[in-house]
Amino acid sequence: MGEFELIRHYFAAAPCAQAGEGVALGIGDDCALLQLPVGEQLAISTDTLVAGVHFPDAADPFLLGQRALAVSVSDLAAMGATPLGFTLALTLPQAEAHWLQAFARGLDHMAQHCAIRLIGGDTTRGPLSLTLTVFGRLPAGMALTRHGARVGDLLCVGGELGDAAGALPLVLQQRHAEPAIAEALLARYWSPLPQIELGVALRGKASAALDISDGLLADCGHIARASSVQLIIEQTQVPVSSALRAFAGEAGALQCALSGGDDYRLAFTLPPQYLDDLLQAGWPLRVIGRVAVGQGVLLVDEQGRPVALPQHGYQHFG
Ligand code: ADP
Ligand code: MG
Repeated sequence: MGEFELIRHYFAAAPCAQAGEGVALGIGDDCALLQLPVGEQLAISTDTLVAGVHFPDAADPFLLGQRALAVSVSDLAAMGATPLGFTLALTLPQAEAHWLQAFARGLDHMAQHCAIRLIGGDTTRGPLSLTLTVFGRLPAGMALTRHGARVGDLLCVGGELGDAAGALPLVLQQRHAEPAIAEALLARYWSPLPQIELGVALRGKASAALDISDGLLADCGHIARASSVQLIIEQTQVPVSSALRAFAGEAGALQCALSGGDDYRLAFTLPPQYLDDLLQAGWPLRVIGRVAVGQGVLLVDEQGRPVALPQHGYQHFG
């Protein structure tokens, strides 16, 4: 099968590649065309996943397709953007029908979930790697950036943290767990669900936001730096799942939640007056601390005493 047939068969024919709102022209021409309503801005983000670095070489292709898109769309969620379209630059050692079929299905599955369309890409031969670029839209001036946190704001997260990091020894088949626990943790690794609706709900409310990809401490450090403030995190308020506690123990679970990464949940700062409305609307947010004068991230215990920071998140070239 040649390059063009491959593109047609696996990608152009996928349900998520069909025309839809906001996409004036999809796969097949030299460029795709996006149609943006007057008064809206385009949010754009690119992520590359390399075999052997970001996922095991032998990763299940369905799960890989699903996860690759989820991780990219999470950046749109973090800005409060509504997903519009994405491109896929795929480098493959060989065109293996079985692999491509499953990968395209996984991608399509997550694309349907996120209501985002495949609008183009590139297909080349080489060591397996994926580059996804996502496009989203939002009203001009309403993006949730990292630099708006203000002293007195609450620090919140969009749910339990650490499950995906806890799942890593299971992904790498270094450890086993009883089925119920393994299933819960692996689902959070392979199928993180970008918090798109939460991001939209936070427009005009959250003062700063991002999605947690490198670990809570490292990512809060980004907000602290960009906003020139200190973020104080109360260790006992950091939410972790019962599955993670059972698998990693209390201390291990906390370590995963603080430094593990791969959560793809939102972390954001919020002026306190918005908290009640958001909680009443049922958003799964948890207050884990506050914004103070200073710099960096301070972890404190129940009495407000500083706790030594465990090692920070993953960094390439670190
Ligand atoms: P060009 O040579 O003009 O860059 P290509 O031959 O690379 O075009 O691609 C032809 C069309 O197929 C383009 O619309 C491109 O966006 C799309 N395409 C190529 N690879 C992929 C892919 N992996 N997934 C989705 N669309 C793709
Ligand atoms: Mg090309």
